[in-house]
This record gives sequence, structure tokens and C-alpha cells, in this order.
Amino acid sequence: MIFEEEDVKAALLTRTGPAGDGIIELMDVPVPVPGPGEVVIKVTACGVCRSNLHMAEGEWIANGVPARLPLAPGHEVVGRVDHLGEGVDWLAVGDRVGVQPLWDTCGRCEYCLTGREEICHERLITGEMVDGGYAEYMLAKAPFTHLLPDEIGDVEAAPLFCPGLTAYSAVEKAELSPAKRVAVFGIGGVGHMALQFALLSGAEVVAVTDGEAHGSLARELGATRVIDSAADDAVALLGRMGGVDASIVFAPADEALHSAVEATKRGGAIVLGVNAVVPHIPFDQEKRLLGTVIGSRRQMNEVLRLAASGKVHAVCESLPLDRAEDALTKLKNRQVRGRQVLVP
Ligand SMILES: [Zn+2]
Ligand SMILES: [Zn+2]
Repeated sequence: MIFEEEDVKAALLTRTGPAGDGIIELMDVPVPVPGPGEVVIKVTACGVCRSNLHMAEGEWIANGVPARLPLAPGHEVVGRVDHLGEGVDWLAVGDRVGVQPLWDTCGRCEYCLTGREEICHERLITGEMVDGGYAEYMLAKAPFTHLLPDEIGDVEAAPLFCPGLTAYSAVEKAELSPAKRVAVFGIGGVGHMALQFALLSGAEVVAVTDGEAHGSLARELGATRVIDSAADDAVALLGRMGGVDASIVFAPADEALHSAVEATKRGGAIVLGVNAVVPHIPFDQEKRLLGTVIGSRRQMNEVLRLAASGKVHAVCESLPLDRAEDALTKLKNRQVRGRQVLVP
């Protein structure tokens, strides 16, 4: 256990701007002090999310994100419990734990009370409103801290806490079953997890992606079919297959959503997990468009159970904390296969 007066390292976003311009600095910060119901975690792994890039480049300033500067980004965090705040008696120092983007919620609104706490108006997002895991130590709310099953290593566990959770929640909304066919648009950090959860439902899963790297990853993970949207007309090919019952969109491009709306059969669902301009949707075909964002604690526990049993895994590469900005730059330049994970 570290002493509270010691300084530790954090990779802090000091200003918003283009990744690569020196916007993240490795700085000395005090060890956080846990209040009642909180824990301090010694971080061992933190995934690098595309939303970290959006925030760092200033795209979300209008939404009040980042809430302050400097700030430690990072919301897919794994580590060991290092200090317990008052009243936390169900965790112990040394426990392996993880923290997802949902850092805290009000616990009493209509969303919190109906299993949709991820859309609580008072939600606090890890690494956007409060310091996240681009750091050696991080503060967390104990009820939002998940115990990690022994079967999963730290680095491979980190991406379960955002891409894994986000993908799982999206696949749940798509209401898949063995007789259905689904198209997953975008096989990046989240998409490659969505593909695996969709396959677990027994449905036929078509991956729509561009470029050979993402295509080969989709094939390795067991996609029934892979369509390279850069080389082929995805809508025409999906149409020839008879269309899809559902589409899940994680590709950060308007065309992906347009293709998904076209390719989805009448009455089908289009699950959207990125910002995109919504195209014309003919009302008389009863197609449903559903937004999806991260997920609840119930869903997080289910993701951890599935990963512990070996049914899904995150494909990742690790790099040291002082390369945080390089990681964002690589993500921006589309040079990442699966997920990058920072290791302090
Ligand atoms: Zn994320
Ligand atoms: Zn709430």
C-alpha cells in the first residue's frame, strides 16, 4: 500500500487539441484519498478508447466534456484495491477489480430504477468528468467497482470494461436468435467484441468492414461472412443474402448507418453505437433505430462471466503509460488491431 503523501504518475490531458501535438503530459500527482464508500485502485491496465480521442481533440466540449483540465482520461480500468474508504466492507485491499465508464449514478431516477442506469441524468463518466485510468492510481465508487474473475488477465480484462460492455449491450438490443442474421458494421475495438457476442446468440453474423486487417480479424473470430465495404457494395451483397434481421453499427461513418438502414429487413432493428447523421427511414417498413451507450452493472457482470468461461476475449496490444498520446495518434490513423491497453 502506498503512503498518501507520496506523488505518483498520471498521463494527464492538459488541453484539447490534435493528438500528436503534445496534449497529454506525464505528471506527478498526489495519491487520491478515498471518501466514504470509495476505494483507491492501483491501476495495472487501462484501455484506450476512441471516445478518449474525441474528448482529447475537443469534439465534445459543447457537451461539457472534459469537465475540467488537467484530467486523466481512460474508462476501461483494471487494478488492485489499494485503500478502502469508510464503510466499504465487501472489498479488501489487494482485490483484483475493474471500473467501467459509469463511475457513479444517482441511484433513484426512473433510469436507475429500471436497469438503464447508463442513461441516468446525473451519471458521472470515468475519465471525462472525474479522473480515469491513464494513471498509476485512481479513485472509484465501491458499488461501481467490479471484482475480476481469476481466469482473466489484467491486460485482456481492461477492454471488457468499455468495448466488451458496449458491445454486449448493443447485441442485447438487437434481440438475436439462432434463426436470425445480423450485420456488424465496423470491426474495431467495440465491433470485434460485438461480433463475438452476436455469434454466441447462434445467429448468422456478417461483418462489414473496410481494409484487410479488420477483415482478417473478423474471419479469425468466426464471422459467417466478411464484406469489405471499400471493395464491394455491402448493401447489394447483403440484399442478395435476403437482407439482415438486425444491424449493429460501430463504424464511425455516416455511410455505415445509411448502409445498415438499407440492408435491414422490414421490421428489423438498427442498433447505433456512434454519432451519425440519421438517413431517411421509411415509416411504412417499421424499421427501428435504437441508440446504445455503454451498459449497466448487471450487463458488466454478465460480460465478466462470459469472458471468464472463455466464450469471448478482447484482442489487444499493451504499451506503457508514457505512450498514451502515441496510442491516441495510432487510433486516429487507424493503425490499431483490436484494442490498445496502457500499462502503468
Ligand atoms: Zn470507451
Ligand atoms: Zn439516476
